[in-house]
Amino acid sequence: MPTVYVETYGCQMNVADTDMVLGLLARAGYARTDDPAGADVILINTCAVRERAVDRVRGRASALAQYKGGGKRVVLGITGCMAEHLRSDLREQAPYVDLVVGPDSYRRLPEHIERARQGEVVQDTALDPHETYEGLDPSRAMSGSVIGHVAIQRGCDRFCTFCVVPFTRGREHASPPDEVVRQVRSMAASGFREVQLLGQTVSSYRFSKGERQVGFADLLRQVAAVDGIERVRFVSPYPLGFTAEVIAAMAELPKVCKHVHLPLQSASDTVLERMRRGYDFATYAALVRTLREAMPSIAITTDFLVGFCGESEAEFEDTCRALFELRFDNAFMFAYSERKGTLAARKLPDDVPPEVKQRRLAYVIEEQRKITAEIYAAQVGRRERVLCESPSRRSPAELLGRTDNFRPVIVAAGAAVGELVDAVIDRAGPGTLYGRPLREGFAHE
Ligand code: SF4
Repeated sequence: MPTVYVETYGCQMNVADTDMVLGLLARAGYARTDDPAGADVILINTCAVRERAVDRVRGRASALAQYKGGGKRVVLGITGCMAEHLRSDLREQAPYVDLVVGPDSYRRLPEHIERARQGEVVQDTALDPHETYEGLDPSRAMSGSVIGHVAIQRGCDRFCTFCVVPFTRGREHASPPDEVVRQVRSMAASGFREVQLLGQTVSSYRFSKGERQVGFADLLRQVAAVDGIERVRFVSPYPLGFTAEVIAAMAELPKVCKHVHLPLQSASDTVLERMRRGYDFATYAALVRTLREAMPSIAITTDFLVGFCGESEAEFEDTCRALFELRFDNAFMFAYSERKGTLAARKLPDDVPPEVKQRRLAYVIEEQRKITAEIYAAQVGRRERVLCESPSRRSPAELLGRTDNFRPVIVAAGAAVGELVDAVIDRAGPGTLYGRPLREGFAHE
């Protein structure tokens, strides 16, 4: 049986796409391997959102090309956003790559790989607004996870000035709700315990066909009703279009996790305007307050993008004030890097000096780290329900899981991967909790 090795970079959508690609290849007769040496096919599923990610992938592609020597023909392929973004440039920069396939062409990946195995160089990066990825189910055995991902929406219509997604993933299109529910049922039947609904602006999901209109709140209710799935999450909502119906559905449905990742990017209204985010800080902060009033236990995480075009010291200080005021559970924090083809690259000078960007980034990372540590320390002594996801890296006797609020927990011996256990939090590190399973509280659903 031929084997495939996959490395994945970037966001949850890419993780979901890797699961989907592995499902497709499993059905085409491939087995997954964790060792690139000896693999028949090596795929790098890439992200083009940040220049650093692109550089890292170039480095990995060149390192993985070493496995192409020897007796058998090994196919080295680049898939995902970077394939879409760079297209034929990629082959010029990395001539050892045999296959360049964008996200809307995954359905054809098994045949493309076969052609590449015969010695052809294959490039398929056409965007297809009609591709809804229907029927492309992940394989639990291949993904090795208890968490299944369903992309309910692809592409994006917002065109934030710094972002390549509308160019690499195309315009927004929603998966039909029946297909989403079918995939979730199939995941439950194959042993997934949690499902994550993915999209670039997931809370504004809307499917319409004739008279039928299904919004995100309806979809959440349908997904939460699937037996066998214990938890439902979604990533990432957009600060606009997060309706009262969605908040009510989240609050009412016990299976829907009380965690929201709500990208703020900047708290300066003038920077937000240059980013074309479409909201101001007051609107964002009001949404955070509404979410916390409706669900007092909710954890809110965010994204900060510092050093965007023209960001002054005063504009940066607005973001710092928001960080202290809103006290996020955690954050992804980045310094702005210009991406070819975006509106910012064409219209706005990338004029914040690199050392200023780095100083601002280091500051927000440090201050957010302290806030996260304080929030985590306040969890000690609490009882939490933890979904055990994998063995911990530190010790195979311990498991790594997450609370409903998405906080990572190392669970001491006494539970198994895939179990939901009640645990008491004994200790908190700066970004991790440590829990002890409660014997009488074990839940073997
Ligand atoms: S909402 Fe903005 S940042 Fe998010 S994917 Fe769309 S364009 Fe990019």
